[in-house]
Amino acid sequence: MHSQNETSSYKHASGGGRLLDKVAVITGAASGIGKEIALSFAREGAKVVIADLDQSAAQKAASDIDPMGKRALGVGMDVSKEEQVESGMAQAIDTFGGLDILVSNAGVQIVAPLVDFDFDKWKKLLSIHLDGAFLTTRAALRQMYRQNSGSIIYMGSVHSKEASPLKAPYVTAKHGLIGLAKVVAKEGAAHGVRANVICPGFVRTPLVDKQIPEQARALGISEADVIKTAMLKETVDGEFTTVQDVAEAALFLAAFPSNALTGQSMVVSHGWFMQ
Ligand code: NAD
Repeated sequence: MHSQNETSSYKHASGGGRLLDKVAVITGAASGIGKEIALSFAREGAKVVIADLDQSAAQKAASDIDPMGKRALGVGMDVSKEEQVESGMAQAIDTFGGLDILVSNAGVQIVAPLVDFDFDKWKKLLSIHLDGAFLTTRAALRQMYRQNSGSIIYMGSVHSKEASPLKAPYVTAKHGLIGLAKVVAKEGAAHGVRANVICPGFVRTPLVDKQIPEQARALGISEADVIKTAMLKETVDGEFTTVQDVAEAALFLAAFPSNALTGQSMVVSHGWFMQ
């Protein structure tokens, strides 16, 4: 049974307060999945830092959550640049006095057949997904080790487990994040830090909307066929996963009450991939 105080703080957070006063940094949170995670964490009482390449969109997303700026901060950050990650993470920690949750979510997609893949594009994708995850993790761990607790969530993909044509660096990077999460789980355990991966199926965000015409061209099929025969073919019900579905999974992992759940990857994909 909840005490009177607990009940009123749940009301204060207006969503249940599962993350009351926790500090969360979410990268790539000016758009799509990250934005919805920031919103749902804030609804559950967290103080959220929206870190994104697009600084003005990050600030707009933060002020949409809290116009007073007391519980949401927008920070410009290219996750693949060491100095920007160091200064952005320091700003986040200074502003809210700690760090409890990192959601390493920023990502891009670049599609092309492997045989023609441009080396610079390969390196760009890997650096956003993998260098970005490493740099934000390292900065987060320093603070989490001081606090002796923390939860790190990586945005993987069904492509952390499966492959698709035309997506070589993306599939490579998303598989790599599972390896990183397992190492963080092992090294972080002694410091109360856990790490897990969410692996969504296709979600209608700008990242996917951009791919549909690109894949249609590359595969020589219609956009409707890209959705039906490439994106959703293996799902159990032909449905897209939603940003809310992924945010709910992130909330579950972030709010999990012990370190029992660590080093895992959770697939949220309408059954596209089953393990
Ligand atoms: P999105 O394009 O809507 O949002 C991505 C955000 O990342 C944008 O705000 C962008 O500005 C930001 N970003 C890009 N490069 C960055 C950088 N170098 N530094 C900081 N921020 C940067 O995309 P989304 O669909 O919300 O994707 C979010 C994550 O989810 C990505 O890691 C993506 O791979 C993953 N994912 C998406 C889907 C999907 O179907 N949409 C499925 C599985 C996994």
